Amino acid sequence: MQRDESLKNIKENPVWDVLIIGGGASGLGAGIDAVARGYKTLLLEQYDFTKGTSSRSTKLVHGGVRYLAQGNISLVLEALKERGLLLKNAPHLVSNTSFLIPAYNWWSIPFYTIGLSVYDLLAGRKSFGRSLPRSRETTLKNIPTLVKKNLRGSTLYHDGQFDDSRLGVNMAQTINENGGTAINYFKVVGLEKANGKITGVRAIDQEAQTTHIIKAKVVINATGVFVNNILQKDDPGAADVVKPSQGVHLVLDKKFLPTDYALMIPKTSDGRVLFAVPWHDKVIVGTTDVPKAAADIEPMATGQEVDFILETAGRYLEEKPQRSDVKSIFAGLRPLAAPKNDGGKTKEISRSHKIIKSRSGLITVIGGKWTTYRQMGEDIIDIAAKSLNGQKKESNTEGLRIHGFKKNVDFSDPLYFYGSDIQYINELIKSKPGLNEWLSESLKIKKVQVVFACRNEMARNIEDVLARRTRALFLDAAESIKIAPAVAEIMAPELNKDGAWKKAQVEIYTKLANRYLLK
Ligand SMILES: Cc1cc2nc3c(=O)[nH]c(=O)nc-3n(C[C@H](O)[C@H](O)[C@H](O)COP(=O)(O)OP(=O)(O)OC[C@H]3O[C@@H](n4cnc5c(N)ncnc54)[C@H](O)[C@@H]3O)c2cc1C
Repeated sequence: MQRDESLKNIKENPVWDVLIIGGGASGLGAGIDAVARGYKTLLLEQYDFTKGTSSRSTKLVHGGVRYLAQGNISLVLEALKERGLLLKNAPHLVSNTSFLIPAYNWWSIPFYTIGLSVYDLLAGRKSFGRSLPRSRETTLKNIPTLVKKNLRGSTLYHDGQFDDSRLGVNMAQTINENGGTAINYFKVVGLEKANGKITGVRAIDQEAQTTHIIKAKVVINATGVFVNNILQKDDPGAADVVKPSQGVHLVLDKKFLPTDYALMIPKTSDGRVLFAVPWHDKVIVGTTDVPKAAADIEPMATGQEVDFILETAGRYLEEKPQRSDVKSIFAGLRPLAAPKNDGGKTKEISRSHKIIKSRSGLITVIGGKWTTYRQMGEDIIDIAAKSLNGQKKESNTEGLRIHGFKKNVDFSDPLYFYGSDIQYINELIKSKPGLNEWLSESLKIKKVQVVFACRNEMARNIEDVLARRTRALFLDAAESIKIAPAVAEIMAPELNKDGAWKKAQVEIYTKLANRYLLK
């Protein structure tokens, strides 16, 4: 996947069937559905693929135990189906993970075991495994760091876990290799219209600073928390349809959860759930749900959110995590469908997706979850297909494999997430054995990954490599700052850049990564 190739396609193609604005889960999902139906498809992302909310999730491919408790059966059914499909189509990125809900009173074990048996039943043949009660002894064997006092046992259930940005990059590759074009650093700044109907977009190549008028039969607004901006370009008086809600995660050392089991805390003091999930040899703890007035590409956690997560996790872990234990902190904004009158309680805003078709023909998607991106893509393109007269084709993504597809993955291999691409990584190492050296031994990142990211994954700068091709920024922000100069050294010849670029890149990256350090 090369940016120059995508740029060439943009210049050569006079009109696209489907043009998607936004390279997060929703846009990439729509892109795959459109190319799979044979539509000439272009996806434009203003920064990098998954730079927005889609790199900042809890990394769960889940039916949503919480939505089951709220009685939202249709959302759970849809998500459980999609969970199974994602495991089938991207087995190199999705793993079946065991979760424990610890019980500190007599009723919790039967209560959650019965509830989760319903979850298993709803999953049907796509079940990830039976939910079962666990004794105190087994619970402590599985998660030895749990608070022991008054612990009675736990309920075991299964859900999926994944790497959100890696999936996003593989989805962009899937679009490109199925005949579509996805490009990063390409920002839509205006909508082109004729007789009130949208005929394309005006977009700026953020690298060359050139403006392009790109024609398309259908334009899709999949810009997450930024959908209001595009809607206002279509109709300056348009009301806001998305309300951002912030969720924060803290990343801790594995010693706090030295196991493959994830911990689910079913009722926090604000009535939500909190997860502590093992991920790339660290532990992610979160999240929160705080309404935000405005969209932001780099949202920041508040002190209250940090205290809430540390305090809640500390109630369940023998060794209480402290601020100094936090390796990285990241915040994301949920693009929730704005209710007519929400009273400030985003918890109750719809988590399911909505699709709006404007009078101009613009199709906007809001809400949803990473887990359900495929169904969202199908629903969006079903609507787009109606505007593509005579070209209506059925979706066929239920069985479509995502780039990198590989079965029987060894998740203990630090490079497992490359799936079938591992053969190209090995070839690179063979051609230049020095690339097998560690860039970061503690994060298990090798030099070869930087070269591979530049040549095949459209990485354009240090951040692309350290935040989304590898997950260094999200796993250990200080370590990522340390290795940034070495990343620039490897990238410069790959991208034909000079010393000034390297210097500027390290400065830009260090400034950004400092936002992920808890001070
Ligand atoms: C804290 C948190 C935890 C979550 N955990 C989970 C989870 O565990 N499992 C799960 O299934 N879901 C989870 N979700 C939900 C899921 O992450 C989101 O629903 C999903 O990532 C939203 O994707 P999106 O494509 O709509 O938005 P985004 O990922 O934000 O993508 C929109 C993209 O549009 C681009 N864009 C904006 N304007 C323009 C423009 N003018 N031109 C070009 N591009 C533009 C942006 O740069 C951005 O990359 C979580 C969400 C949050 C916030």
